[in-house]
Amino acid sequence: MEQGIPEAILADTKLIQDLADVAKDTALLNGVLMRTKEEPGSSEVVTYAPFTLFPTAVPRGVFEQALAVQTHYNLLVDLVSQDTQFLEEALASTAESDVFTGRLLDIYRQTTKEGRSQSIVLGLNRSDYMLDQREGAPAALKQIEINTIAASFDMCLTRRILDNNPAAGLARGLAKAWELYGSERAVVMFLVEDVQRNIMDHRCVENELWSRNIRTIRRRFGDISLVQDKRLFVDGQEVAVVYFRDGYMPQNYPTEQSWEARLLIERSLAIKCPDIATHLVGTKKVQQVLAQPGILERFFPDQPRVVQQIRDTFAGLYTLDEGPEGDKTVAMAMANPDRFVLKPQREGGGNNIYGSEICRVLEGVQGTSKRTAYILMEKIQARTSQNYLLRRGAPLQPSKCLSELGVFGVYVRQGTNMVMNECVGHLLRTKSSEHADGGVAAGVAVLDNPLLV
Ligand code: ADP
Ligand code: MG
Ligand code: MG
Repeated sequence: MEQGIPEAILADTKLIQDLADVAKDTALLNGVLMRTKEEPGSSEVVTYAPFTLFPTAVPRGVFEQALAVQTHYNLLVDLVSQDTQFLEEALASTAESDVFTGRLLDIYRQTTKEGRSQSIVLGLNRSDYMLDQREGAPAALKQIEINTIAASFDMCLTRRILDNNPAAGLARGLAKAWELYGSERAVVMFLVEDVQRNIMDHRCVENELWSRNIRTIRRRFGDISLVQDKRLFVDGQEVAVVYFRDGYMPQNYPTEQSWEARLLIERSLAIKCPDIATHLVGTKKVQQVLAQPGILERFFPDQPRVVQQIRDTFAGLYTLDEGPEGDKTVAMAMANPDRFVLKPQREGGGNNIYGSEICRVLEGVQGTSKRTAYILMEKIQARTSQNYLLRRGAPLQPSKCLSELGVFGVYVRQGTNMVMNECVGHLLRTKSSEHADGGVAAGVAVLDNPLLV
């Protein structure tokens, strides 16, 4: 988006320096905090979470479109998570080529066979978008991906510009699930990584829960071992809800014990956010299959308007399964690699493949089933804007930036009854256009604010 800050302001170094000083203090005053790179495991010294000096212009129409489609996405994720046949078919080949997806699918298969132990489902997801802005065409909202596990950065930098408080909405969902579990003394367990620079983000949600007299604890996979009568106990405390802020990438499972803990949680009566099925719905492979003709209709048979609203946000997504369709995708990518992004089944940023590297990777897996570990996606042509990225220790200089809009969704289902289905806020993240990949936690993107135009 080029609707940017006037040149004269961007070039006024004295003004920029003054604004940056004020902005950093304001971030600290408002609790927009992160632990430091040097001491990522301690809050003795903290710094501001990196953010942009200026907000970024976002057309009001597409912003509202993104908020409006979120409750439909919540329903879609939830419906797909209940469709065993669909998940099996969508993921079978990918799970064979990608060990991580394979292990998740193993847990899914085992617990499906045994029968799900808990009929209450809590979903907290974030659907991410970029704006496709080609010459002469209006900005089109295109989904990059949907995150169904550990979708982070719900703390609000933004409350003063637009009403936005995702942490409160996520906490409402957690509180509702906890209440339905029906045991006053049970706790909400945040399942966390060993080292958490982004801990303040969790604390926002924890504090919201404590203020409702709901106890929260923080534990790691290594702390989980006891199930009695299907109930999950940790240090003598019954767990009503397990909120995963860990477990979304292979490195989160360093030992077999971590996988056993994941399975143990899945089989227990605790409400899982997400459960294993919902986790799998967030894979890039499922995203690609959902974009195939007729698939959305399977989930919304009598709702053409809902189907249209969701489909309008789809970018081009292409299968790399074995067979003629996959061969066509390979040929298309090889002919014009700069028009695409090659994506493995990974989360957390930094895993995608671009440009000539796409050809190298596809040549490497040629003639084998390994290519089904990936999907191919049309590259979104987003416009850049000039901004200053404020990050501790970084020089103050203008950067050419790209932005990504995230929308948070929360839902709670009990059996067949949808008890809550809401869009609870947004998150704009911006990065220098040199960094094609990576999120805030990965240290590339920074927090931003949409300025609706
Ligand atoms: P992850 O789960 O690792 O966050 P994403 O699908 O969000 O994976 O991709 C990571 C980053 O790569 C995105 O934040 C975005 O900057 C860039 N990206 C992903 N898909 C596209 C695309 N289709 N067009 C342009 N950039 C993309
Ligand atoms: Mg992701
Ligand atoms: Mg992402």
